[in-house]
Amino acid sequence: MLTVKPKINYDCDVLISGGGPSGSALAFHLAKKGVKVIVVEAAKFPRDKVCGDGVSPIALAELNKMGITRTQKFAKANEIKKVGLFLKNDNVFINLAKPEHLRYHARIIPRIELDAMIYEAAKKAGATYLEESRVVKYKITPNAALVTVKTDADQQLIKTKLVVGADGSRSIIARQMRGNSPSKDYQLLGLRAYYNNVNGPTDRVDIYFSEEGFPGIFWMFPKGKNDANIGMAMISQTFPQKPDHIKKLLTEHIATHPEIAKRIGKGSLEAKMEGWPITFFNASQKLCSDRVMLIGEAAGLINPLSGDGIQYALLSSRWAAETIINCVPADEFSETALSTYSKKVNEEVGYDFALSNLLVQFPRNKTLTKVWMKILTVLIARAKEDKEYADIIAGIFEGTYPSYKALTVPFILKSLKQGGLEISKELSNSLKHPNSLLDNAADSVQFLFKILEEIKANPVAQLKWAGNTLSKTASVAAHLAQTVDLSKIRKGV
Ligand SMILES: Cc1cc2nc3c(=O)[nH]c(=O)nc-3n(C[C@H](O)[C@H](O)[C@H](O)COP(=O)(O)OP(=O)(O)OC[C@H]3O[C@@H](n4cnc5c(N)ncnc54)[C@H](O)[C@@H]3O)c2cc1C
Repeated sequence: MLTVKPKINYDCDVLISGGGPSGSALAFHLAKKGVKVIVVEAAKFPRDKVCGDGVSPIALAELNKMGITRTQKFAKANEIKKVGLFLKNDNVFINLAKPEHLRYHARIIPRIELDAMIYEAAKKAGATYLEESRVVKYKITPNAALVTVKTDADQQLIKTKLVVGADGSRSIIARQMRGNSPSKDYQLLGLRAYYNNVNGPTDRVDIYFSEEGFPGIFWMFPKGKNDANIGMAMISQTFPQKPDHIKKLLTEHIATHPEIAKRIGKGSLEAKMEGWPITFFNASQKLCSDRVMLIGEAAGLINPLSGDGIQYALLSSRWAAETIINCVPADEFSETALSTYSKKVNEEVGYDFALSNLLVQFPRNKTLTKVWMKILTVLIARAKEDKEYADIIAGIFEGTYPSYKALTVPFILKSLKQGGLEISKELSNSLKHPNSLLDNAADSVQFLFKILEEIKANPVAQLKWAGNTLSKTASVAAHLAQTVDLSKIRKGV
């Protein structure tokens, strides 16, 4: 039987909620192909966004495809060639290797500039923007998505074939589609401060770990000759709950860490510290439903290990555009038709994110912080003498390598060997100074007692943590079974 679709007057083919990197990149790709796009953006460009401003080589490759790297503004962006990792009094400096297929080293580009560049490219391609306007809800009918958009002055209903949530970590579209807010189990909290008149080197980003700040990391990213982005990201839900406020931790770190003090020198805080939640990937939550899609951080496309999200915002917008362009001719935007996008996301990043989620699940249990400090000591010691190993660690932080690079057999063997070396160093020190042997033994016993005490004090929370760890392990196992070529992992390809 022939079904005739009624003729409907749509205001646009695709309405995008949010004009950050994901929303504006999607608008660019669609407008270039003649798709009629409206971007509704709560702010007015150029607008700031709390971020580390680190733009990875993979993100830069996407910007290159969009012609943005050929602009004068891009040419001025600060290039990063080294990373410093700091733990207590130890450190290692790693030259960032650039995989051959990637054209650029990472850059630090303040978001007020980066997002405006993508916005301008999208407008030039033909996208329409409604700025200082906010999407408040949508309604799906058999033939359309009806989106309510509010400004200070009025409210309007926009009729579209598809609505895309590109509205970041607190996405209104994701909340309505999924029927819930993001769980704290899948959130980091980030804090950023801009500093003026800091010292070089301008081509080196520094990352600091400390027992007090764990499970969190501090960073210092130079954004040019004199200025820097300094910040901290921390897992929101830890066990036991972290009593210290993240702002206090960052302030103390800046005031007391000798290495960061060296870099800040006579520099000063440019504006107040600002915080923002970071929502990462929960594989049990949908990315699409009938006439609705999520991209970028609204979809949770953030690597919880590095906090890196710009590259996934840009990649997901290109993958979404490929699906949407195929849906336009048949005017078919059902969940099934949109599912090629969900499958693509799962294939490209599903395993990596499942593994990263599992890796951040361990430090959530702060009882184990001492173990993590030991593991980091081992990583730094090995990175000092093994260039290939150092490249992998730096690549994971830079977002160039997936985290499963750190779970290959050669990488693990090297880590174990280094762990053995560190233990034998400690043993030989203890034999030279027998009293320290007693200290170490006493420390270990105390550590064990601390674990037992915390299990006794909070059995329910410890069980929940163990249960979450098991379910995240199961998610990794499912990916391994479905999609991953184990022989490649073994060899480290
Ligand atoms: C402290 C911190 C440090 C970070 N550091 C890095 C880093 O160094 N490198 C990296 O790659 N990533 C980093 N990230 C992550 C990165 O910021 C995100 O991955 C990225 O911004 C996601 O882009 P997006 O376009 O999906 O969302 P966003 O950039 O959040 O853009 C969402 C847009 O939607 C708009 N909006 C929101 N709600 C509505 C609404 N209802 N209606 C209309 N518009 C709306 C907002 O105004 C905003 O412009 C960091 C995040 C934080 C918080």
